[in-house]
Amino acid sequence: MILGPAIALAVSAALTGFPPSPPVAGGPPVAGGPSPPVAGGSPVAAMAPPYPLHPITRGETREPQVAITFDACATRQGWYGFDRDVFEILKREQVPATVFVSGRWVDTHPEAMADMANDPLIEFGDHSYDHPHMTQMSSARVVEEIDQTEAALARYGRRSVAFRPPFGEWDRHLLAVVGGRQLPTVTWDVVSGDPSARATTAGMIRAVVGQARPGSIIVFHINGRGWKTHEALPAILQALRQRGFRFVPISELLKAPVAAPVSSPATHPVLGRP
Ligand SMILES: [Zn+2]
Repeated sequence: MILGPAIALAVSAALTGFPPSPPVAGGPPVAGGPSPPVAGGSPVAAMAPPYPLHPITRGETREPQVAITFDACATRQGWYGFDRDVFEILKREQVPATVFVSGRWVDTHPEAMADMANDPLIEFGDHSYDHPHMTQMSSARVVEEIDQTEAALARYGRRSVAFRPPFGEWDRHLLAVVGGRQLPTVTWDVVSGDPSARATTAGMIRAVVGQARPGSIIVFHINGRGWKTHEALPAILQALRQRGFRFVPISELLKAPVAAPVSSPATHPVLGRP
């Protein structure tokens, strides 16, 4: 996500009302089947296909657990950077986190990638290669964006546990193609607002701690676009711990029996099922 939280929320809200349509005939467009496990890589996504044709915004659990996630976006125009302070806070506090990387970010930040890939606290998600708008793309182009990023991660012995669409923009076609690559699509239910230059440390703490609930997926940035993330993060982690929350990676959150939002098959057909 690069857009401000208001826009991203508007996008999410607008798309949540996506009209129901008939189930996709013939099941997901699986090409080549599951990839072989990569030695030393992160655990395979716990959630098995078929995946829902809406993004997972939170884990359906009553356990007091939340997922701390970061986006590391990069486009052809901007490679951005690495907020090493954030990584140091995660290590110091022993907080597992899921980092959704654009493949171009992986390829332009070798030192940061080597450090994160060597740390078992970090698992990775796929955030496309060039951070394009993906809802108008052909299946072939979507697959290319995903696979290029997986190839970049594989050079560090890692693979993704989930996909997060750039700008939070999605449609059913995109999710079907992503599901065909064996990845659930995951967005968020708690926005830190950290890419906004107007975000204040106190405001971010209030927003995240106030919105978090069991199963929440919280989005921050670790590519230097979160101007005050490293200032707010320690207080956020401390306050969430005081409220009884523990931190889990996305792969663990998705192990919950049903991933939210809960929806009836009648209104949200699941791939390969009526
Ligand atoms: Zn992004």
